Amino acid sequence: PVLAQPPPQPLPDLNASLLQETHATPSQLRPVPALTDPLRATQRLATDHMIQAHWSLSTGWTAPTLTPYGPLALMPSASCLHYATECFEGMKLYRGHDGALRLFRPALNCNRMLMSATRIALPAFPPAQLLALIVKLCETDGPRWLPKHNPGQFLYIRPTMIATDPAIGVQRPTEAMLFIILTVLPQMDAVPGGVKLLASNDDMCRAWPGGFGYAKVGANYGPSLVAQGEARARGYDQILWLFGDDGVVTEAGASNFFVVWREKGTGVLQLVTAGLGERIVLDGVTRRSVLELARGRLAKGTTAGEVEGLEVVERRFTMDEIRVAAEEGRLVEAFASGTAWFVAPISKIHYKGEDVEIPMAGGDMGVYTGLLKGWLKGIMWGEEAERENPW
Ligand code: PMP
Repeated sequence: PVLAQPPPQPLPDLNASLLQETHATPSQLRPVPALTDPLRATQRLATDHMIQAHWSLSTGWTAPTLTPYGPLALMPSASCLHYATECFEGMKLYRGHDGALRLFRPALNCNRMLMSATRIALPAFPPAQLLALIVKLCETDGPRWLPKHNPGQFLYIRPTMIATDPAIGVQRPTEAMLFIILTVLPQMDAVPGGVKLLASNDDMCRAWPGGFGYAKVGANYGPSLVAQGEARARGYDQILWLFGDDGVVTEAGASNFFVVWREKGTGVLQLVTAGLGERIVLDGVTRRSVLELARGRLAKGTTAGEVEGLEVVERRFTMDEIRVAAEEGRLVEAFASGTAWFVAPISKIHYKGEDVEIPMAGGDMGVYTGLLKGWLKGIMWGEEAERENPW
């Protein structure tokens, strides 16, 4: 007779409630740099602690650990060092005007991290457990690194997953590590005079249908740095990534891209950004929030104060459409959106040897850019009117 086999036990999943904590001793705590400290601009400062969890195909996820910030141990043959089996997230912890610490729609980042991880054969995990670990690290280091007497500050949160298999063979990872760190960024608000973009040349693109441009994987960023360096060398701030022979507009640097214009033919006022359908742009949390705020607070046919509502459009559009809109006086404004810069007005796009000038309402930024940026900042830092906002 065949003996009944016990059913296979499911492997342990990522579980934040198992967190093992080893806190830094008072002498290990680093000095928090003053707001004016030039060290902030180096972007090399991390807070006191980090969280890690390890995964293997045969044993599942280990209990996560919280330890003092320090180097990782990796074999030189680790998969991530050779085959870009790496993904990450970028979000912020905000010290609000009311003294509270807040995250902004963090579940969206955790869901996106799961999507990115599985796109490159890294293991799945429950996004809510990642969120619980992020919250734990923020609760540990947030209070000291974001002092209450300095509202309006933030820390940058970098959850990361890498494949750690110590084997050179090109294969699906069987071992991985998740880690979360908090870093200090300089105060990033407006680029004086607006962001100047250099449209990418025909010989380089960031993403293509069937690729992985929609995922937040390291492999999307390293190869973009040659073009970014060229933009800086030529006096521009970022690349505007175009795709294909028609110059389809995708993203600006590591930000989503928006224009406000009056539609050709109809004259309808529109807020336009690339759609997600072709999977060549990142589903930015700020992008989504801008679209939702515009649909909710600037809906066509309504007014926000004196400001005319607009139609919100997600579609494929080209650099030529922007150029012609500018020539015909239909271009109203343009901005980039992302966690680092919130909403950044764009003043110029260099395309095929010409500068396309973008109106900024005669000031620092256009009216719609200013409204959307103000609303987002109000929500992120818990200004009075937004204190109960669910985001
Ligand atoms: N596009 C790319 C390529 C990015 O790296 C980012 C930054 N995460 C964004 C857009 C903006 O996304 P988010 O608003 O979620 O920061």
